[in-house]
Amino acid sequence: MDLKPYIQTLRNQIEYSLRRDEFGLKDMMIKDIDDYLNSEVKSDLEKAFFLVLNQFPGDNSDYIIIPNEMVLLEDVYDMSTPGIEYEIDFAIYGGSVNDPVKVAVEIDGQRSHGQKHVRKDRRKDVNLQAAGWLVMRFTSKEVHEEIIKFSEHENHVSDFLISIENVIRQKLDLVTGNNYGRPKVRSLLTGYSWGDVQCTNCGHRQIGVLNRKKHTCKHCKEKFIRQLEAHERIAGEHNGLYYFL
Ligand SMILES: [Zn+2]
Repeated sequence: MDLKPYIQTLRNQIEYSLRRDEFGLKDMMIKDIDDYLNSEVKSDLEKAFFLVLNQFPGDNSDYIIIPNEMVLLEDVYDMSTPGIEYEIDFAIYGGSVNDPVKVAVEIDGQRSHGQKHVRKDRRKDVNLQAAGWLVMRFTSKEVHEEIIKFSEHENHVSDFLISIENVIRQKLDLVTGNNYGRPKVRSLLTGYSWGDVQCTNCGHRQIGVLNRKKHTCKHCKEKFIRQLEAHERIAGEHNGLYYFL
């Protein structure tokens, strides 16, 4: 299948979506995209996927996309060699510099895929994973199907992009209202140990500060004293707080 007409359509859709040009960045962004599309060493498959990933170039995303990223890794299969170089089809970086999220997006069928390649890919995946990369593979068939959807539905949002963003968001583990409710997250943020506390009057279970002896039940509004459970070991008590070991 010839991808060229689809590539052109998607490129024009992206340009159209930038028409408001609030930040005066349109020309620069379109130039970056066109530079990639005009490359003679990239395959149509790579170009199509690049456009899918850059569907919302004006967005303030939490990550950057680097095509054809070279990386130097340890070879866990052969520790006698000092390292092994790999080219990643699309490297996606997010998070903080000291604790980054690294996603390697690979398109299979990009290079010819025989048994030998499958073995090499598997080795590559293991080495990437050992170095903290998350590997996502898409087949060329999937990329073909995805790009066709764009010409069928003008407002199509790529399933790839959604799944990649979900993976990044999950790995980033940003503080949200949702996970603030989780005792583990709240403990990390506040310094208290948060957990399940049971009212001794009505039996209602609620999230509370485990360090605290005196509680007011959210359900029956009565005050109660929390008794330590058998597995809880404390270093001591001070000002009405337990300090755990
Ligand atoms: Zn109660």
